[in-house]
Amino acid sequence: MTNANRHPCFDATAAKTFGRVHLPVAPSCNIQCGYCDRRYDCANENRPGVTSAVLSPGQALWYLREVLRLDPSISVAGVAGPGDPFAEPEKTLETLSLVHGEFPKLLLCTSSNGLNLAPYAGRLSELGLTHVTVTVNAVDPAIGGKIYAWVRDGVHVLRREEAAACLIRNQLTAIAACAAAGITVKVNTVVVPGVNDEHVEAIACAAAGAGARLMNCMPLMPVAGTPLAGFGKPGHELMQKARWRASQHVDIVHHCRGCRSDAAGKIGSANDSSIQDLLLHARSMPLKPAEDRPNVAVATREGLLISGHLGGAESFTVFGRDGAGFREITVRKAPPPGGGAERWAELSRVLSDCRAVLVERAGETPVRALEAEGIRVVITEGLIADALESVYSGAVPAAAMPPSKCGGCGGGGGCG
Ligand code: SF4
Ligand code: SF4
Repeated sequence: MTNANRHPCFDATAAKTFGRVHLPVAPSCNIQCGYCDRRYDCANENRPGVTSAVLSPGQALWYLREVLRLDPSISVAGVAGPGDPFAEPEKTLETLSLVHGEFPKLLLCTSSNGLNLAPYAGRLSELGLTHVTVTVNAVDPAIGGKIYAWVRDGVHVLRREEAAACLIRNQLTAIAACAAAGITVKVNTVVVPGVNDEHVEAIACAAAGAGARLMNCMPLMPVAGTPLAGFGKPGHELMQKARWRASQHVDIVHHCRGCRSDAAGKIGSANDSSIQDLLLHARSMPLKPAEDRPNVAVATREGLLISGHLGGAESFTVFGRDGAGFREITVRKAPPPGGGAERWAELSRVLSDCRAVLVERAGETPVRALEAEGIRVVITEGLIADALESVYSGAVPAAAMPPSKCGGCGGGGGCG
């Protein structure tokens, strides 16, 4: 049996026999589609961008081992978000490398908006990746400008038509680069009625010309509060027409379901509770699961509430698990604020027994620096006991927030 015949998303017959697992290791995105909202974490919501947990590459490998034990029908592991796998490519590449090292027979795939995919086509092929999906919603910037709010091209943020022009250029280059590297390319197109439904054939033609082998036309799933929600879900007839026109240029797949970023098992079946439990357990582990990190550090002034900024905290209180509860172990002095990279290197030594640090605010730079050393930074507020419970159980703390841009502290946080 060939690789293509074992991939359930690329072959309808394979979908009856084989399952797939998405490893949710890519939280950030480098573009904003007008139909996407990744803020929700609902176990019952079944659409791309939704996951119950974001895992580190090491946690994802542990999770994969357990999922394969539960469901030996899984033939492919993929990275499909919840953001874009190449917004922070190192996480995706490390995950694929770990998986290929331990499971060389498992098919590997990824799915991307294509903005930053082309530079990694060769590396992906070396890692054994055989299938990629690129979501292309327009090949005309005037139409794309109605779908994409912005695109981050390096340090520049482009908007609307300019954003779409850059994205389209990179997508077609990425398709060609992947095809040249021997990777089978499928294009996904989200059909937005009144915006790109009459444009699907042009997308199919351009994608096939660049080297795509398959196309999957997906109806818009309107998400409340997003700019394109008002366009509604396209009807059956409109989708059939779009698919038929596209089929003049490229083979069409009909069975893709637009799965969650943590989907596991056969296409079309919801994650069962054992998968959900495994995901949360993986998330509760140290970022590098082999490390012994039993404790959690907290930036706090009085020992009850999370009340300190990662950049400015002068000390951290370390808590450990104690039976069903938690116990304060010690208070550790932090290196002086404002020390930049030295502070983060020293702080990771000071907290070398901690799997996570709970803070009220933090900038992107220290979050990355500490996470590279195996310490997860959880930005949240409220009672320490509640947040500790979430961290040790793998749940997201109720008031969890993303890192702020540098300067988000008003300049007094000491993140520099
Ligand atoms: Fe959302 Fe994916 Fe679009 Fe990024 S590329 S905004 S994650 S749908
Ligand atoms: Fe396969 Fe689901 Fe991804 Fe579609 S969304 S390619 S069916 S895993």
